[in-house]
Amino acid sequence: MKFVDAHIHLSDEEYMGHIDEVLAEAKSSSVVALVSNSMDLKTCVGNLELAEQHPEMVYAALGVHPWSVKGLKGDELHQVIELSSAQRGNRAFVAVGEIGLDSKYTAILNAQVTVFDSMLRLAEKLSRPVIIHSRGTTVQIVDMLPSYRLKKVLLHWFSNPISALAKAVERGYYITEGPPAVYSNGIRDVVKRVPLTNLLTETDGPVRFFKAPFEGKRTTPAFIPTVIRTFAKIKNRGIEEVAEQMLRNFEEFFDVKLDVEQ
Ligand SMILES: [Zn+2]
Repeated sequence: MKFVDAHIHLSDEEYMGHIDEVLAEAKSSSVVALVSNSMDLKTCVGNLELAEQHPEMVYAALGVHPWSVKGLKGDELHQVIELSSAQRGNRAFVAVGEIGLDSKYTAILNAQVTVFDSMLRLAEKLSRPVIIHSRGTTVQIVDMLPSYRLKKVLLHWFSNPISALAKAVERGYYITEGPPAVYSNGIRDVVKRVPLTNLLTETDGPVRFFKAPFEGKRTTPAFIPTVIRTFAKIKNRGIEEVAEQMLRNFEEFFDVKLDVEQ
């Protein structure tokens, strides 16, 4: 059985100096591919480097995260757009992400909308799928998206409201869920409602999880087999069937062919 992690931040400072260890751990847990998401220019550059160094396993998503909007320096947004545009032919650049809006930072919500809009336009221009962060803003985002010609949409760590989930699924959007599916009833309910063909596994590392069996551990793709077992239980399907479907969803969403023999 092989597994995938559709959403991690491998270029985060917390993983620096431990990349080989984290990837070795992923491999020994049969995780064959992961998408490393960006926050800002520095992490975009870092993710491209990691994808180049580990082409058999690491793919890059490039973009500006809503949390980074306030700290953008000078023409950093423009530089992210330039860098991404220059990667048009790079097969390792599989999505624009992580982008979106976060209601926790309402003071800069207008600035977030401006950056999000330019990221969605970038995805349109480069014909890449988008990976979206939508904490507290899912309804607003789901309303915005039809104005763009987007290839594919993924709502990462979807939590609520369920009414927006129905709309998203109807439009064929993908949903990623990770370790919270093991202990959160709300997330389990989301997993239950999303068709297996629209679901993907993630860790969102280095985000830490403070409940069993993840507490006190550094978040790595090695958590994925536990997430898959949980998905299988919720869906009342076989573990192998679910793992296989996640692999196919990863290939379909990111338009890549995985080497599952590795
Ligand atoms: Zn993330």
